[in-house]
Amino acid sequence: MKTFEYSRAESAQDAVASAAAQGARFIAGGTNLLDLMKLQVMTPEKLVDISRLPLDQVEPLVDGGVRIGALVPNSDLAANPLIRERYSVLAKALLAGASGQLRNKASTGGNLLQRTRCYYFYDNSMGCNKRAPGTGCSARQGFNRILAVLGTSEHCIATHPSDMAVAMRALDATIHTLRADGSERAIPIGDFYRLPGDTPHIENVLEQGELITAIQLPPPPPGVQIYRKVRDRASYAFALVSVAAVIDVADGRIASASLAFGGLAHLPWRDAQVEAALVGQAPSPATFDAAADALLQGARGHGHNDFKIPLARRTLAAVLHQAVEMHA
Ligand SMILES: Cc1cc2nc3c(=O)[nH]c(=O)nc-3n(C[C@H](O)[C@H](O)[C@H](O)COP(=O)(O)OP(=O)(O)OC[C@H]3O[C@@H](n4cnc5c(N)ncnc54)[C@H](O)[C@@H]3O)c2cc1C
Ligand code: SF4
Repeated sequence: MKTFEYSRAESAQDAVASAAAQGARFIAGGTNLLDLMKLQVMTPEKLVDISRLPLDQVEPLVDGGVRIGALVPNSDLAANPLIRERYSVLAKALLAGASGQLRNKASTGGNLLQRTRCYYFYDNSMGCNKRAPGTGCSARQGFNRILAVLGTSEHCIATHPSDMAVAMRALDATIHTLRADGSERAIPIGDFYRLPGDTPHIENVLEQGELITAIQLPPPPPGVQIYRKVRDRASYAFALVSVAAVIDVADGRIASASLAFGGLAHLPWRDAQVEAALVGQAPSPATFDAAADALLQGARGHGHNDFKIPLARRTLAAVLHQAVEMHA
């Protein structure tokens, strides 16, 4: 590990002021950042420890939504009664991620910003445009089984690994931040992450030193909430394909549908055409196929990950069947 400066922030304002300079990074639970530093994949010059800031509350809002502090541990969030009762898709997604010990350390903000699990990103001896811009993408011709089939570019085919972010995308979360100049902003999660394009190393719209302070969820949409994660092992493995769904069926028709997908793209993927193919339709295999067609019309495999395309179709169908059964 390379040497670095360390400071502990006493307040959010103190944190953003300390992290304003290039090369500074926040550290929360450290479960992703420290691994990357040990491998010298990330080499921050300065760590600003935010782990003791008072951003660890889950608060109900008057509009029926909820505000989740950026430092709420993943395990506390999954166990919170408000989250379990009203946003069960989020609780299920959190519990499908990592292990109990990791979830105790992992924070809400850090989970949103965890880096890809592409093997080549972690291997300093290989070209990787995300780790070292301009060095090429070893995964395109290499072993790409776990990588993306939607929204890729010739420069990067990595996936975003977070389960929690997929549920938050389906729930229309808003990310609240504090900038280095002291101003605040609220970023809808749909605008937060970036596709790889020709700058895969820039993964989101945060500025240098911008601190995530909270994530706000609107009141939950009506319907049943499902999180289904397909992975190589029953636990302690990242998603090959995942689906977060909130689906309402009324009078024999799909009244509303909110769906986000993990394991398929550089960001938690949501496509209005998928939801449009479902809403107003009677649930049937043909309807579910039309939704999968909408989802996968631009999908492209890279060899080892071709299987993700039919797997996504089957996983979506299984989730939709389950939603209909839960309404029956
Ligand atoms: C073996 C293993 C298995 C795992 N399996 C899964 C899994 O199946 N599913 C899953 O979703 N995750 C999984 N994870 C990832 C884990 O969930 C993340 O490492 C964790 O959520 C990151 O949170 P953290 O607080 O430790 O972040 P840190 O490591 O502290 O930080 C991560 C990044 O976020 C930045 N950051 C942190 N907080 C803030 C903030 N408030 N504002 C701005 N920037 C911030 C840091 O600067 C850093 O760049 C796994 C991790 C491991 C090690
Ligand atoms: S897919 Fe992205 S992260 Fe993986 S090697 Fe290519 S550029 Fe790097």
